[in-house]
Amino acid sequence: MIIAKARAVDGPDQQFRSAEIKRRDLDTNDVLIEIKYAGICHSDIHTAHGEWGPVNYPLVPGHEIAGIVTDVGTGVSNYKVGDRVGVGCMVDSCGECDNCRKGEEQYCLKGNIPTYAGVDKYGEPTQGGYSTHIVVVEDFIVRIPDNIALDAAAPLLCAGITTYSPLHHWGAGPGKKVAVVGMGGLGHMAVKIAHAMGAEVTVLSQSLSKKEDGLQFGADHYFATSEPETFEKLAGTFDLMINTVSANIDINAYFSLLTLDGTLVNVGAPAEPLAVNVFSLIGHRRSFAGSMIGGIRETQEMLDFCAEHDIAPNIEVISADQIDEAYKRVLASDVKYRFVIDISTM
Ligand code: NAP
Ligand code: ZN
Repeated sequence: MIIAKARAVDGPDQQFRSAEIKRRDLDTNDVLIEIKYAGICHSDIHTAHGEWGPVNYPLVPGHEIAGIVTDVGTGVSNYKVGDRVGVGCMVDSCGECDNCRKGEEQYCLKGNIPTYAGVDKYGEPTQGGYSTHIVVVEDFIVRIPDNIALDAAAPLLCAGITTYSPLHHWGAGPGKKVAVVGMGGLGHMAVKIAHAMGAEVTVLSQSLSKKEDGLQFGADHYFATSEPETFEKLAGTFDLMINTVSANIDINAYFSLLTLDGTLVNVGAPAEPLAVNVFSLIGHRRSFAGSMIGGIRETQEMLDFCAEHDIAPNIEVISADQIDEAYKRVLASDVKYRFVIDISTM
């Protein structure tokens, strides 16, 4: 049994506190990782606040994990002590269903095992990356390329793959007009990745306050959704839209910006249902889709793509004592563009 230091929360309205959590002894195919950095995803906040449904507290969030291998089980073949590795939103799946066999473990028909707020195959609650160590089966670990720093690598494990996967799946590339709605953690990665894929990229943000950053990340155009003319000007423009907004928006207004056969993919996961007016879809054979993170193979592909194209998130590194403050700032859309916890401060 390994005792890890962690930051845990005891209820929806509670502040984070220091905690000690148990990590299992290494099974044959397990890897022990000393966590160096953990990103703060808006999903951590939705979960910690109980917005997506009941949660078993105490909860240690964190599914953007970057660290170093410090021990391996006797059957581990792909990793050794000292390797730079990452763990994202899931730590296991059945491995046998059609979706797992296709490498789409996130859509495991028996349900993937989330990195935190889940129950592992030993019946123990899973606890995430706001902690000094984690034990994960080697099939759910990815390798961090040498030219990506560990602090910058962390957000790629969720924000990176969650935007790379739909951009790749729906064919973002040369000749495609892609809009990114909301430029927070996910949104700013979507801009960088879509640009590197060769698409013409437009940001739709609440205001123009981050316009210079957006253009620097690779956006070709930047509009404020608070200005009604934006919707008139851009009507029927986009082949693909990636909605990263964490709150409920008037989604029908955004459908009107799609071309014939255009697709709006929701990756944002607000707790309340979105009200869809089907007429805004049927008029131009538009599609409304969703997408959840990406498979393990695709996550490695995304990391290698980022390494090759020199893509990294813009991060603000914080200490473990600043998690509550960071949550407040994320909720106020005051994040540039991902908070990353320096685990050595734990
Ligand atoms: P984030 O950093 O807070 O970014 C969300 C952005 O949405 C904000 O920066 C803001 O962008 C915009 N926004 C926020 N409130 C808004 C409002 N009321 N109206 C309009 N725009 C608003 O969050 P994130 O970490 O990127 O996560 C975004 C969402 O994706 C969350 O719901 C999260 O749970 C979800 N998520 C889903 C997956 C998946 O697998 N599908 C994975 C990770 C996260 P501007 O300031 O530019 O307007
Ligand atoms: Zn996430």
